[in-house]
Amino acid sequence: MGRLPQLVCASANPHKVAEIASILDGVVELLPRPAHVPEVVEDAGTLEGNARLKAAAVGAATGMAAVSDDTGLFIDALDGAPGVETAYFAGPHATYAENRAKTLAALAGVTARGAEFRTVVMVVWPDGSELCVQGVCRGSIATEERGERGFGYDPLFVPEVDASGTPNERTFSEMSEGEKNAISHRGRAFAALVDALRTR
Ligand code: IMP
Repeated sequence: MGRLPQLVCASANPHKVAEIASILDGVVELLPRPAHVPEVVEDAGTLEGNARLKAAAVGAATGMAAVSDDTGLFIDALDGAPGVETAYFAGPHATYAENRAKTLAALAGVTARGAEFRTVVMVVWPDGSELCVQGVCRGSIATEERGERGFGYDPLFVPEVDASGTPNERTFSEMSEGEKNAISHRGRAFAALVDALRTR
């Protein structure tokens, strides 16, 4: 077997890097982001634009191909908010709990609670060529927090169906990591990346 192609991961979040490495196992050798790469200001205004900024910055600092991802929660009743501002919904230094509290408050009395997570994954090569794929997980926002696992909006997000296509009423936080990854926006986006890299 030949050597696997190498991609530098634009994320420094160890949990995310481990998740991405396990999905790309056998397809790509994922290298950690070098410590000297400065944090990127994610101000492109779209998930795709922010993913490009992150991959391009790591690519420029290392001279290697880089992979990045960017995720947003798009709530129907809020015209797609928080969207690209998902990490900062309740303010620039908001905690996950504050973001969830703001979400519940914004949807108080709202019965149509449909929403979706979207993840954009971008690879940028040193010659400037790029590959961009997306993963979507459709669901709804619960009326209260449920479950202990995961992070971010997981205690509020109820995916429409589980991995077998059966209608689901549990939040991501009430699912095992494996169940979540099989249907999640990020799981689907990186699975799409694997397919795209294999046929490239
Ligand atoms: P990022 O682009 O992966 O950093 O995601 C932006 C924000 O979306 C995070 O700060 C979280 O609040 C939220 N988020 C992303 N992925 C998930 C997830 O799988 N579950 C819950 N919240 C998520």
